[in-house]
Amino acid sequence: MASDHVDVLIIGAGLSGIGAACHLRRDCPDKTYAVLEARDAIGGTWDLFRYPGIRSDSDMFTLGYSFKPWTAPKAIADGTTIREYVRETAQEYDVPRHIRFRHRVLRAEWDSDTARWTVHAQRTDTAEIVVLTCSFLFACAGYYRYDEGYTPPLPGVETYAGRLVHPQHWPDDLDHSGKRVVVIGSGATAVTLVPAMAQRAAHVTMLQRSPTYILALPARDRLADALRRRLPAKAAYPVVRWKNVLLSTVNFQLSRRAPGLVKRVLRRAARGMLPVGYDVDRHFSPRYDPWDQRLCVAPDGDLFTAVRDGTASVVTDTIDTFTPNGVRLASGAQLPADIVVTATGLNLLALGGLTLRVDGVDVDLPNTVAYKGMMLSGVPNFALTLGYTNASWTLKADLVAGYVCRLLRHLDRTGQQVVTPLPPPDPERVPLIDLRSGYVLRAVDTLPKQGATTPWRLHQNYARDVLLMRRGRLTDEGVRFSRAGGVAVPERTPRPVASERR
Ligand SMILES: Cc1cc2nc3c(=O)[nH]c(=O)nc-3n(C[C@H](O)[C@H](O)[C@H](O)COP(=O)(O)OP(=O)(O)OC[C@H]3O[C@@H](n4cnc5c(N)ncnc54)[C@H](O)[C@@H]3O)c2cc1C
Repeated sequence: MASDHVDVLIIGAGLSGIGAACHLRRDCPDKTYAVLEARDAIGGTWDLFRYPGIRSDSDMFTLGYSFKPWTAPKAIADGTTIREYVRETAQEYDVPRHIRFRHRVLRAEWDSDTARWTVHAQRTDTAEIVVLTCSFLFACAGYYRYDEGYTPPLPGVETYAGRLVHPQHWPDDLDHSGKRVVVIGSGATAVTLVPAMAQRAAHVTMLQRSPTYILALPARDRLADALRRRLPAKAAYPVVRWKNVLLSTVNFQLSRRAPGLVKRVLRRAARGMLPVGYDVDRHFSPRYDPWDQRLCVAPDGDLFTAVRDGTASVVTDTIDTFTPNGVRLASGAQLPADIVVTATGLNLLALGGLTLRVDGVDVDLPNTVAYKGMMLSGVPNFALTLGYTNASWTLKADLVAGYVCRLLRHLDRTGQQVVTPLPPPDPERVPLIDLRSGYVLRAVDTLPKQGATTPWRLHQNYARDVLLMRRGRLTDEGVRFSRAGGVAVPERTPRPVASERR
């Protein structure tokens, strides 16, 4: 057993954890910190996923860090370039020497008398339990299970003689050249995989139960290209970043206020990129409103091009059963396949599976309420990173890390050691993630809630959050500051979950 103390312990060395470490270095250089990472690499999502064509779904001017300009040519970037960007940022801020790889955090226990967390991690190589203490615990562990992607029940799959692959666990040896491929799913992963695999496969079929909204966007950002020719990267970057924030905000707000109009615009755009007479309504017109689920992006319309060229096709149907040669559909049609890819999603997991205890009492996550979308009611000196659902993850991750630094400096300035969010005074509770996607609905009951009003309500609005988190007061009715040894549990006891407004 090894034991150690740091001021801040970060869980996870993905985009958020590395960003958090950089913020500490920039804003609180006197704080000691360590990063515990379960895997043996930096990058999280951008290191784990290795399927053909893996790329971002949002532009890198907003998925990049506020303090590190994105300089690569493409705005919608491939996984390798993103991984390299995260690693390069980590190097620039001297983060790697603070990372302890192969340390999976299992549980953390808060003690109000000492104002410390005791954190238990297990080494994934030796199974040794490592115990550390810290004054502030910062979970940047992403939002899904790393060990297993989601696969729904697949009738008759045991009879199938070809290769069955989940995108989260892409085999190094899989060569799809000249093969018939069926990709099951219609989310961002399927929309990425289909055109990428179609370049070498005999044919790729995207088999979906129901369609998703797909928006064709240029892979390169014209404004960025123009500004980069005239301005240094540091000057061009924030301009393009704010332009993209504005565009995505308008897109989201318009979708919410005039869903019919946005549906029509998306349908017309899709129709223009598909062959004449193509059944757009069947394959590209979802039953839900835009942004009830995340919109998928097709850079330069690559999916539509593959369909138009005949290298890929879309089938909207349900699986009756797998057969030795492929899939038989409810309509009776057969889809022969040498390879079937189950692009059927993720298993959501809060806090990387970590369990929390406060003064000997287990924290029941679904009974906590998120404060400013980043701390939990009744849990002292703890923050978590959960990105936006309607915009790039890092926009929020940057704000959260900056806010944590503000809190730490406030504690030092006022001679206090503990910051504890309180639950909202009113009993209304709302799901923390307001998407209707399957992977969210499957797990929503295991997640913390949000309240009805600020500072417990997420507005999914970056500009508003900039004011709240960079400029807003640290001391408000939702939080209490105290000294070590003070009563750390909130005075207001959480009320039962009353209503769930979706
Ligand atoms: C295929 C894919 C594409 C995506 N594309 C986009 C996009 O284009 N735009 C966008 O905004 N979002 C996208 N997302 C969401 C994406 O996850 C975020 O953008 C971002 O990468 C999250 O970074 P993170 O560091 O918070 O989490 P992650 O990337 O998930 O990293 C979390 C890290 O924490 C570690 N960890 C987890 N649990 C523990 C534990 N208990 N102990 C120790 N370490 C632990 C993990 O090993 C991992 O390294 C995508 C997600 C996926 C799966």
